[in-house]
Amino acid sequence: MGLGHVAQPGDQTGKSMNAFRTPEDLWDLPPASRSQATRPSPDAPHAVVIGSGFGGLASAVRLAAKGWRVTVLEKLDAPGGRAYVHHQNGHVFDAGPTIITVPFLFEELWALAGRKLSDDIELRALDPFYRIRFDDGDEFNYSGDPDKMRAEVRRISPSDSAGYERFMAEADHCYRLGFEALGDKAFDTVGDLIKASPAIFKMRGWRSLHTMVAAHLKHPKLRMAMSLQSLLIGGNPFSVTCIYSLINALERKYGVHWAVGGTGKLVQGLVSLLEGQGGVLRCNAEVKRIEVDQGVASGVTLANGERIEADIVVSNADTAWTYRNLVEAKHRRHWTDRKVENGRYSMSLFVWYFGTSKQYNDVPHHMMLLGPRYKELLKDIFSRHKLADDFSLYLHRPTASDASMAPAGHDTFYALAPVPHLDSGTDWATTAASFRQAIADVLDRTVLPGFEQHISASLITTPQDFHDRLLSFKGAAFGLEPLLLQSAWFRPHNRSEDVDGLFMVGASTHPGAGVPGVLMSAKALDSVVPSATTWQEQHARKHVSR
Ligand SMILES: Cc1cc2nc3c(=O)[nH]c(=O)nc-3n(C[C@H](O)[C@H](O)[C@H](O)COP(=O)(O)OP(=O)(O)OC[C@H]3O[C@@H](n4cnc5c(N)ncnc54)[C@H](O)[C@@H]3O)c2cc1C
Repeated sequence: MGLGHVAQPGDQTGKSMNAFRTPEDLWDLPPASRSQATRPSPDAPHAVVIGSGFGGLASAVRLAAKGWRVTVLEKLDAPGGRAYVHHQNGHVFDAGPTIITVPFLFEELWALAGRKLSDDIELRALDPFYRIRFDDGDEFNYSGDPDKMRAEVRRISPSDSAGYERFMAEADHCYRLGFEALGDKAFDTVGDLIKASPAIFKMRGWRSLHTMVAAHLKHPKLRMAMSLQSLLIGGNPFSVTCIYSLINALERKYGVHWAVGGTGKLVQGLVSLLEGQGGVLRCNAEVKRIEVDQGVASGVTLANGERIEADIVVSNADTAWTYRNLVEAKHRRHWTDRKVENGRYSMSLFVWYFGTSKQYNDVPHHMMLLGPRYKELLKDIFSRHKLADDFSLYLHRPTASDASMAPAGHDTFYALAPVPHLDSGTDWATTAASFRQAIADVLDRTVLPGFEQHISASLITTPQDFHDRLLSFKGAAFGLEPLLLQSAWFRPHNRSEDVDGLFMVGASTHPGAGVPGVLMSAKALDSVVPSATTWQEQHARKHVSR
């Protein structure tokens, strides 16, 4: 077997490091050398992580903490994946996640690397979490303060007050069972599924989130306000399991935060931790194939032909893409092409990032602008795969909390519309301009009158970019749809069902999409990968007994 360049963790020179330092003003955190973490020994087993999304970076930090030599290979020119950072004309655009919940999942990673999250990152709690604007102009301030929420519910529908209390209690129940008890379990065997079944039964997880919400709340506006959260992780509230009501409880318990300087600071922070642990991130390094030798992952081959040997391979790339395109079909008995193609994939997104040379101080940090249709629009997106003329938007205005995201006196925004994945057949090259204009028209009519005269930056991302740039199957923004029969044991396992020594983390594996979900997937990975020392002992024993 030919062996090309083997990346050496700790090697701070050469193309790779230069490549990921390229984007302006990215790396201003304290030097990695301040880390108290132990560096792996040069003969430690080597873990290759494909992809530097939050799931990949969190896994890399966890593996390094267990003594593995870690190399992260990233296709793009900078880390973060969906949390990539774009810069234009002084505006800083977080490409993806902006709502940060469950800070302790980050704190754990910092602690594993011998550091403290608060030394590197300032998390600012937001109140309200977000404002929901209904199509008739009525607004609902969604917050973590139970009394303010009760008042909002009463204002819209006094007769729903008691139902709201029941809804919160049921969401708490789902949080305890779905997040605390099952979230970071790897669901490696049927036994794991059997063990989890009573909890799934207790949560009556076969009901949709909307069915559960509607059992407690009568008013259509409240039903929308309490069910739309599953869209944040790519799930249609009308088909996603009601277990996802846990998002409501999670937000109440941990709050919604903003990472000062942008979500990109969390990405930089994780890379800095990894460097401090002796790990390596190589950008502009697309993996074309996972090498399998007698059923065991033995390394990867990059697009440029370079071969990198590994003792284990962890894929943070989309699982459907990983199996379909990176692992040869002859090595896959479980995740065959047919099974991958028969999966149901989440929606995609159209995102318009723009800046204005004027500020709109009435617009809060996070805002949902709901269109005229809810259930039928979601059917168009998720089942009929049809690009509709109407849409709902999530509007992000980070400058509401953080002036560093734009030049002085400017605002930074993104407007995101859920749209069908590429099965819609939409030619985004010809549709993007008119779709962007339709979004601009809605914003102009509602919360940003006259803003088009003040645009100072503009970038767009379409479903085609999710496919071509991030290598997401069908251009889905959140991987496999989080249906009950595509969750937990039914989702691609964190330990590959097909190839020994191959592992999966990130949105389309267990537990699922969203920053907390992918950080939990790295915890699940932790439970199925031994420490470097244990791995070496196990392999030495195997070697002797041969
Ligand atoms: C616009 C948007 C807004 C969102 N908002 C929120 C939010 O507010 N809060 C929240 O919690 N979640 C949010 N999410 C969801 C959340 O961002 C994602 O679920 C999560 O970031 C995905 O992380 P991941 O670990 O799966 O990896 P990804 O971010 O998907 O990264 C995977 C990486 O793998 C790389 N890669 C793929 N194939 C290869 C290959 N062959 N070789 C090398 N590298 C490869 C890709 O380039 C990419 O960098 C949002 C998502 C989007 C798209």
